[in-house]
Amino acid sequence: MNLPIDTLGRPLHDLRISVTDRCNFRCTYCMPKEVFGRDYQFLPREQLLSFEEITRLTGIFTSLGVRKVRLTGGEPLMRRDLPELVRKLGVTPGVEDLALTTNGSFPVENIARLKEAGLKRMTVSLDALDEAVFKAMNDVDFPVAAVLDWIAASAAAGLGPVKVNMVVKRGVNDQEILPMARYMRQHGHILRLIEFMDVGSTNGWRMDDVVSAKQIFQTIHAKLPLEPLQPNYRGEVAERYRYADGAGEVGIIASVSQPFCGDCTRARLSADGKLFTCLFAVQGADLRQLLREGASDEELRTAIAGVWSRRTDRYSELRSRQSKNPVKVEMSYIGG
Ligand code: SF4
Repeated sequence: MNLPIDTLGRPLHDLRISVTDRCNFRCTYCMPKEVFGRDYQFLPREQLLSFEEITRLTGIFTSLGVRKVRLTGGEPLMRRDLPELVRKLGVTPGVEDLALTTNGSFPVENIARLKEAGLKRMTVSLDALDEAVFKAMNDVDFPVAAVLDWIAASAAAGLGPVKVNMVVKRGVNDQEILPMARYMRQHGHILRLIEFMDVGSTNGWRMDDVVSAKQIFQTIHAKLPLEPLQPNYRGEVAERYRYADGAGEVGIIASVSQPFCGDCTRARLSADGKLFTCLFAVQGADLRQLLREGASDEELRTAIAGVWSRRTDRYSELRSRQSKNPVKVEMSYIGG
């Protein structure tokens, strides 16, 4: 079978796998407490794909061109025995890069187990160094120091350079841009600043709350001069910059002000086995049903290739021209 290319000429290269829709944080831009409260119905265990099902599907995705796999959630470490899944994916043919995105809130002892199982890279979400600002963004009483320990321990375990994702929201944590930039470059981590996005339908997104990539760049460049870097590969989401004094690099993810849909090679698999072809999707294709109805690998391959070949997604490019606000799936359900 030829490798599928979508209607905009984009191949399938990255697979983001959400292993759970649960999280122990309530970041206001992703899982606001008002919606994801005590009574929120998360996916019951039997509806989650098993590690065997995830591994089988991943093998089929790699036969269609996927080379990079990222484990996400919710918070992926909420899924018990995650190192066992990492081990299976680490030996799946075609998986060249295996990364994890976490909020860094679990005991650092987990890092050695993930590394030993075959994890290659670690990305950690951290929106501020200041405790009060951190709390304002993630709405749980969790110490920044513990996340910084997770980041340091991940680097020490050889899972670096660790990428640290910071969502920037005007009037909430934009004053933390420089302190975060200074801290991460001093410790050899790669800070990636993310424009606040209208993901899902519950985070109360307004354009006024967006600090644009240009403003983020100027804030840093004014104090810590930056020089542009080439992307590592087609489809890399961050605009890369190096510090002119050689003290590392920083990235800016500009989905709102500088959309990058033209090079988007990412598919997403939800924890209950639905295939989504855009972060801002409204619906997905149910692969779990096919799996549990006994579909063969060939049938699954044909189904996935079919979905990708018909793909037209470029939400971020069309955002401003949207006539009405579609009810999009939640980011915590399909992974960032
Ligand atoms: S908006 Fe959708 S198509 Fe565009 S870059 Fe993001 S995930 Fe890809």
